[in-house]
Amino acid sequence: MMKKSNERPHQGWKLDNSYERLPEIFFTHLTPSPVSSPELVIFNDSLASALGFQSEELRSKEGTEIFAGNRVPEGASPLAQAYAGHQFGHFTMLGDGRALLIGEQLAPSGERVDIQLKGSGRTPFSRGGDGRAALGPMLREYLISEAMHALGIPTTRSLAVVTTGDPVYRETELPGAVLTRVAASHLRVGTFQYAARWGSKKDLQMLADYAWERHFSDLPAGQNRYLSLLRHVAERQAKLIAKWQLVGFIHGVMNTDNMTISGETIDYGPCAFMDIFDPKTVFSSIDTQGRYAYGNQPRIGEWNLARFAEALLPLLADDEKEAVDQAQDVISNFAAQFRQDWLDGMRAKLGITNEEKQDISLVEDLLGMMQQDKADYTNTFRALTLGEYPADSSLFASTLFKEWEERWQARLSRQNYPKTEIKQLMKRHNPAIIPRNHLVEEALTAAVEHGDDTVLQRLLAVLADPYAYSAEQTAYAASPVPSSQPYQTYCGT
Ligand code: AMP
Ligand code: MG
Repeated sequence: MMKKSNERPHQGWKLDNSYERLPEIFFTHLTPSPVSSPELVIFNDSLASALGFQSEELRSKEGTEIFAGNRVPEGASPLAQAYAGHQFGHFTMLGDGRALLIGEQLAPSGERVDIQLKGSGRTPFSRGGDGRAALGPMLREYLISEAMHALGIPTTRSLAVVTTGDPVYRETELPGAVLTRVAASHLRVGTFQYAARWGSKKDLQMLADYAWERHFSDLPAGQNRYLSLLRHVAERQAKLIAKWQLVGFIHGVMNTDNMTISGETIDYGPCAFMDIFDPKTVFSSIDTQGRYAYGNQPRIGEWNLARFAEALLPLLADDEKEAVDQAQDVISNFAAQFRQDWLDGMRAKLGITNEEKQDISLVEDLLGMMQQDKADYTNTFRALTLGEYPADSSLFASTLFKEWEERWQARLSRQNYPKTEIKQLMKRHNPAIIPRNHLVEEALTAAVEHGDDTVLQRLLAVLADPYAYSAEQTAYAASPVPSSQPYQTYCGT
């Protein structure tokens, strides 16, 4: 039977491959390496339907084989992307060492998104790696990326995780898995660094034009499209990192290859949410210098953008000095831009709707007290939102806090905004729950070690609307029992 023109093909795949129309230096065509016995572990029905997929058809054996890399969908043209990057400050050649771009799905909304398999086998960019991924870290990426999305933070998403039936060897033998990642694109600062270092000026220009068309074409390009590109990327990153800071998210490995051009959070390796407020918080086992500590994220964002600007220099102006001046101008504006986005967000967290000069000290004094008292970041704002101060908290019992609260209340009364609305505003900006490390670990242990995904599914369900303040969320809001062992996360697992 003929399909009606508005009917989607089998499973809903509607792939295009604009990336492969870039010069050949940017990728290598490659099919995924087959695995022994794929099984679907988790599937994102709501994301699937938003992208035009038919969930029931994709949940089939055939769909699972696609997510495992044993079969490619109609219209796919799998490739590994080339890129470089500064890892902990050191420049190196990287590329998709364990991932393949399957194609770009054209969603019914008109949106174009990359569909990428992560853990799909070795590529020419694998260096010493096995090209594979383990189940735990892939479920972790699924959970945290979906939680970030629900928090309203731009991020890559997760469509599915399948197990491969093959073991991977890390410190121990672990079940292998493949994650299907969905992204606005996988263009990174590192893609531009790669072009600037190993491509021609024409290659670099084609990449920049591609990035512009893909992510910014609805914005005015002004007189200099490449300068506008730099400016918009800087703006999106300032907004993104401000959002991270506002919810206490620590990316953990802000290498330039892990910073997108689209402004989405990418690469959930050693990331984690902070419990106790302390700008020095680091979870990553390999970040011994604290380069990517919570409080350093804005500065690292600026450093990464400076690397992006350097890569773009040949396109900014023919005269080198002029190019450098233009780039410098954008980069030196980043800190102020971030500060503004962050302060706007902090005002909303405190229920403030207009601007006063002293707001910054109101915010900083609160954070100072929180740090001093080792207060839980999320739960302090949760308590302020609900107006319910736990009796056992040294912060809320202190005279300093009482003085601060008087200043805060006086500040709130100086704006023309009803009290009930203030509470609603605060609820929209202070999550009732976050994916706390102990909850994440509990869910992953049940899923990976006991094959029980109910804990994970329940956690995903309560995190799907983190601003709901539902009764069910209360049990998930508790801060962890202090442990003698600091929480540690691991890279490249
Ligand atoms: P990441 O730390 O995930 O940003 O990865 C840094 C680089 O290492 C990227 O080029 C990855 O593709 C590559 N990589 C990470 N894990 C593996 C692996 N198991 N096999 C091959 N390449 C890998
Ligand atoms: Mg990476």
